[in-house]
Amino acid sequence: MSSPAVSSAGMTPMLEVKDLHVTFAGKGRFGRGHSVKAVNDVSLHIDRGETLGLVGESGSGKSTTGRAVLKLVPVEAGEVRVDGQDVTGHRGAQLRRLRRQMQMVFQDPYSSLDPSAPVGASIAEPLRVHEKMSKQARRDRVEELLDLVGLRPSHADRYPYEFSGGQRQRVAIARALALNPRLIVCDEAVSALDVSTQNQVINLLEDLRERFELSYLFIAHDLAVVRHISHRVAVMYLGRIVESGPVERIYEQPAHPYTQALLSAIPVPDPKRKGAKRILLSGDLPDPSAPPPGCPFHTRCAYAMDVCSQVMPAMTPVEGGGQTACHLQTSGPTLAGRPLPRTEVPA
Ligand code: SF4
Repeated sequence: MSSPAVSSAGMTPMLEVKDLHVTFAGKGRFGRGHSVKAVNDVSLHIDRGETLGLVGESGSGKSTTGRAVLKLVPVEAGEVRVDGQDVTGHRGAQLRRLRRQMQMVFQDPYSSLDPSAPVGASIAEPLRVHEKMSKQARRDRVEELLDLVGLRPSHADRYPYEFSGGQRQRVAIARALALNPRLIVCDEAVSALDVSTQNQVINLLEDLRERFELSYLFIAHDLAVVRHISHRVAVMYLGRIVESGPVERIYEQPAHPYTQALLSAIPVPDPKRKGAKRILLSGDLPDPSAPPPGCPFHTRCAYAMDVCSQVMPAMTPVEGGGQTACHLQTSGPTLAGRPLPRTEVPA
């Protein structure tokens, strides 16, 4: 077993994932008997107080990666370390202790809130399970948590249906904070909210991150939201990370053709970039139970070369920070920042 990595700041990362593999049985497009490699050789890290945005199309494996980090799905191979401790090697009470440090906020707060109980009871649930506290101390902590997320102490006695979507997500965040976690996996946590409520919840997450030095794995398909909240971004395609790097480099100079296509779909408010072209991807996401050989993106890539259908590209450093898995980085011209010549249509 390898020893924990050291971040660029010389500290153990809050989260370190190495060579993670998750496979589900019998869920292929062609029915039973086909296993699906939902997460394939994924490595990433998140420093203390840092937010890593994880993006990709539906079915890219980003949510499964988040769940695997929390051991909510079985890990086939690889290593997950939280604050230097190997989560994959822990079971039972040891795992429960480690789990206190990592929580999840889902898209639909109903999945974590009991609709038939006052929200105070849902927020208190992890305290009841993990902490020896008097009833009054639990009530005090629930009220403190509600205050932290911008709700009133009296809200503890209300039921989930009495809240708006944004308020319910605040309750879910209060519940996630109950045990003072260090890492929160936000899985499409603001996707169901309208834009103005999204902004409020993002600002709340930012305040909480700064105040408690939280680390976030922020999983989302909305690239504009991810840009707003993330320090670094990782892009997933067909279960693999195909590019990662600092948020500004990824958004200003995406190196992987898939990242370029994803980003071209974001509406551009900047008048200087009004003429930017949208890149249409040809074809559908390949069946994950029968991924194409070589580069997994070669069936939809406008730049595919012979080598692409035969050899899996290795992760290679990109100027400006981060890495990408594309043969163009080693065998062709670097695309970062250049316009794409093919498969373009006016936005
Ligand atoms: Fe396209 Fe080839 Fe790069 Fe894959 S390796 S993204 S197919 S150019």
